[in-house]
Amino acid sequence: MSEISQLSPQPVWQFFDKICSIPHPSKHEEQLAQYIIGWAEGEGLEVERDDTGNVLIRKPATSGMENHKGVVLQAHIDMVPQKNEDTIHDFTKDPIRPYIDGEWVTAEGTTLGSDNGMGMAACLAVLADKDIAHGPLEVLLTIDEEAGMTGAFGLKANWLKGDILLNTDSEQEGEVYMGCAGGVDASLAFTVEKAELAEGYVAARLQVKGLKGGHSGCDIHTGRSNANKLVGRFLAAHVDELGLRLLGIGGGTLRNAIPREAFADVAVPTAQREKLETLFAEYLSVLNAELGAVETSLDLSVTDSNAPLIALSNSDQARIIATINACPNGVIRMSDDIEGVVETSLNLGVITTEGNTITLLCLIRSLTDTGRQSVESMLASLAELAGAASSFTGAYPAGNPMPTLK
Ligand SMILES: [Zn+2]
Repeated sequence: MSEISQLSPQPVWQFFDKICSIPHPSKHEEQLAQYIIGWAEGEGLEVERDDTGNVLIRKPATSGMENHKGVVLQAHIDMVPQKNEDTIHDFTKDPIRPYIDGEWVTAEGTTLGSDNGMGMAACLAVLADKDIAHGPLEVLLTIDEEAGMTGAFGLKANWLKGDILLNTDSEQEGEVYMGCAGGVDASLAFTVEKAELAEGYVAARLQVKGLKGGHSGCDIHTGRSNANKLVGRFLAAHVDELGLRLLGIGGGTLRNAIPREAFADVAVPTAQREKLETLFAEYLSVLNAELGAVETSLDLSVTDSNAPLIALSNSDQARIIATINACPNGVIRMSDDIEGVVETSLNLGVITTEGNTITLLCLIRSLTDTGRQSVESMLASLAELAGAASSFTGAYPAGNPMPTLK
């Protein structure tokens, strides 16, 4: 046991300490699942598993509470395995080493796995408790939430008996979430033709950096800017006047992160090189005036580049620049039911150039399935106009909030 097992409330922290001691990265949950099953059976609780590997534990209502609605407490078993560069750690074999650092509990050199270990610990502490009065109780522990949600997708149908499900995997202490955004990954792929430019061009890299970024769900309404969109806007405005040719373009790393950085590799006639720099500097002034209240560290630069002078055809670059510039991004609609909550949004998260393929990746979220479908339809139309191949994958449904519970 580590020092965290002495923290209060002790039953929760003792379970969490035990969870830390048993490896449980995504796709390797079995050891911890077996421990929990063994513990629950030892307590005389009813334990079931489905074919996917999810664990369900049932605890009967306490005396006099039998007619209450059943409650399901849900957590996921797996954790995100990340470690510092200089830490030697095998997440499938080595225990997490938690310790107390001032006001926080953290882990030596690795992620702690409090997501969702603390939720799991809280569920198990309720099961272990002999004093709490409750109706029929179920604890559902799903696998693989962090790496594909195969546990939730494969959940056995009609398995749960309870009417009310409390998920323990939210972000903020002391807050309860109702409902959940659904989502879908959207991809717009362009096949392009490239050819070597004639003499007289010089290559440069346009770079947008220093944006705040953030989570495409939690931060999409905060006015933070999207680096991919900023690059697209500049190109759309100045491509003709500069005689600019696009060599490649890229930005962002994840669909669900607001991109903080993006670049365009371009070529301009040598005589226009200085003008490119001037226009990009002017663009920075415009952006600082527009966005400076939120984006306080915008960094735009033009640097020399020795990228090969192999450019997209004029028509290909035109449709790609237009698509990035026209692509909807950010909040599409706020919720009518809950003030300040976003109903539908999307994030143009990633742009990549690989060989002759340029791909735009977006994540669409909505509290309603039809809201999500409306944005899918916009992107499908945009792709049709632009001659891109659109695909929508990994859709998961919305959990529409129900503010009143009967
Ligand atoms: Zn989680």
